Amino acid sequence: MTDLVAEAAALDAADPLAHKRNSFDLDQEIAYFDGNSLGAPPKQVAERVASVVREEWGGRLIRSWSEGWWEAPARVGERIAPLVGAAPGQVVVADSTSVNLFKALVAATRLKPGRDEILVDADTFPTDGYIADEVAGLTGRTVRRVVAEDMPGEVSERTAVALLNHVDYVTGRAHDLPALTEALHRAGALALWDLCHSVGALPVELDAAGVDLAVGCTYKFLNGGPGAPAFLYVATKWLDRFEQPLAGWAGDRDPFAMRGAYEAHAGIERGRSGTPDILSLLALDAALDVWDGVDRALLREKGLALGEFFFRCADELLDGARILTPRGNDRGHQISVVDDDAAKTMAALIERGVIGDFRPPNVLRFGLAPLYTTYGEVLRAVTTLQELRSRNNEFHSGIDGK
Ligand SMILES: *Cc1c(COP(=O)(O)O)cnc(C)c1O
Repeated sequence: MTDLVAEAAALDAADPLAHKRNSFDLDQEIAYFDGNSLGAPPKQVAERVASVVREEWGGRLIRSWSEGWWEAPARVGERIAPLVGAAPGQVVVADSTSVNLFKALVAATRLKPGRDEILVDADTFPTDGYIADEVAGLTGRTVRRVVAEDMPGEVSERTAVALLNHVDYVTGRAHDLPALTEALHRAGALALWDLCHSVGALPVELDAAGVDLAVGCTYKFLNGGPGAPAFLYVATKWLDRFEQPLAGWAGDRDPFAMRGAYEAHAGIERGRSGTPDILSLLALDAALDVWDGVDRALLREKGLALGEFFFRCADELLDGARILTPRGNDRGHQISVVDDDAAKTMAALIERGVIGDFRPPNVLRFGLAPLYTTYGEVLRAVTTLQELRSRNNEFHSGIDGK
């Protein structure tokens, strides 16, 4: 145990990203492990939102729409593009991930009209599956749920598109995006990736992998704030044929002409629907400043190292605990520990200042955000969990002994 304390201190002292924690408004008493669900606020966000309200909304009023607001969805999209390996012109920020999934899935069926099936990652985050079912109903397709790794054997000439989660939200497992994309393409199907748990965590190279479509949220590892608008990626090769079903005026080629008939914008703006939520969008814009100058290789390295340290602490302190997250590099920045009483255990951890979350029926999730999570905090999480477990065991052996 003393070894682990010394090791954590040494790792923190040598951490090349340690200075980044200062960029966040974080209560120093709390060890925060839920950056994979709601990222912590970068310091400049509060100031920027206040100035948007006072100066842009209050001072400039309606004039602000032509002073940067209207173009903000594509402009902020360009700031996310390098984080997902996208060349300019392919990422727009708008609506929620669920809504963008709907746009992308319907557009995919239109790009592959002769194919009657949609494959969905069997372990997907629920909203993706719900939306896929609705899209299938509306477009006369059927949905087949397939384990991500089995997609290469299951995809066929019937498949229009496969929807996959890059990192599994329960186990933290990362799927092989380039290999699975290639396998789908060999069968002529499109690859639609949900990047909610990978953007801002692992390197994502959409262009290099030839991904067709992608969506992701910005309030997790991108720290954009609660309900910050999501992003939509459409590969250049599909852009002029990307016909999305929520084609509102904001996606029109000339919105302020107020014409009677819609004509899609030539660029990625065609992914937009209605008026952008400027306050959330500009909060996200400010939050993205923390990525300036961040070496993404270092980010990944630290995310993996935090996980490795978690495993080491768990091996030593959590006798027999089952961890769902793979130990290799096929994982995101989250460790998932099985606990029969997950809801109660997490509540007790939070009471003790260790904030993670749980997913039914029995998974404790610890998100590791390389920009602000420390090795010392990882040790604190595991020791706190150890205390709770040994208390529980004593309690149970007390009952058994009666
Ligand atoms: C968090 C998450 C979502 C959330 O979708 P919203 O529309 O923003 O609520 C969707 N998919 C995955 C994989 C997620 O992890």
